[in-house]
Amino acid sequence: LRGPGGARQTQFGPDSLTRIYAVTSGKGGVGKSTLTANLAVALAARGLAVGIVDADVYGFSIPGILGLVHDGVAVKPTRVDDMILPPVGYDVKVISIGMFVDDNAAVAWRGPMLHRTITQFLSDVYFGDLDVLLLDLPPGTGDVAISVGQLLPHAEVLVVTTPQPAAADVAERSGVVARQTGQKIVGVIENMAGLPQPDGTVLELFGSGGGLEVARRLSEGQDAAVPLLASIPLSVALRSGGDAGAPIVLSDPADPASVAILAIAETL
Ligand code: ADP
Repeated sequence: LRGPGGARQTQFGPDSLTRIYAVTSGKGGVGKSTLTANLAVALAARGLAVGIVDADVYGFSIPGILGLVHDGVAVKPTRVDDMILPPVGYDVKVISIGMFVDDNAAVAWRGPMLHRTITQFLSDVYFGDLDVLLLDLPPGTGDVAISVGQLLPHAEVLVVTTPQPAAADVAERSGVVARQTGQKIVGVIENMAGLPQPDGTVLELFGSGGGLEVARRLSEGQDAAVPLLASIPLSVALRSGGDAGAPIVLSDPADPASVAILAIAETL
């Protein structure tokens, strides 16, 4: 697809039938990639055509979570002429910066280079007709988030946060930046919530209340309230499934974290 001046156009423009969700967070390590990958697998298991653009340039972990890393090396996309065919993990088509850098090299790119890469991911990668495209954004409010906001102003945004009230500030900011580019925030997902203990108590390692707090703040002054979509508990199985490249929504759907993720997938 080429637009005026020969510039490539994304197949994911405002007229496309693909629902686009950008998954964002205030800071790293809150489980954004883990949830994006498991949500994608859950949607694909429902028979939807699903793709992920892993735009988390600093922590490109989607290929590993979806079993597309072997001996530390990510599966490479296939090239046909100037078309890039994305690898497929658990029926999810995936493109990631991690597939283009060698030996787990760090990505130290400035904004224009990042913008070009994201533009190329959205225009030169042959995803075919997708029902759902998920974008795993880097944490925070940097260049990639702004590029995605400009390229896909009609994308809907999912904000991931931990239950720590102190994390609410940064999570709120990432949502606000998305909204400034016109994107709609569909909801907040709280991750790493209480872990049930054998004695019946709940270990709230990361506190509580952060998800509701972010949802409340992002709802202020809006016509429609931003909901807290789910609170996903800490889960050893979710973590080890991510490490092993075996998403738990398939391997362990009864785990409480899977149950919560599958419930979100039903609402998307
Ligand atoms: P982010 O994309 O926000 O940087 P990741 O998805 O890479 O975060 O998750 C960071 C680490 O936390 C990973 O090791 C992941 O397996 C683990 N993790 C994520 N969510 C949970 C959870 N609910 N319970 C236990 N570990 C989790």
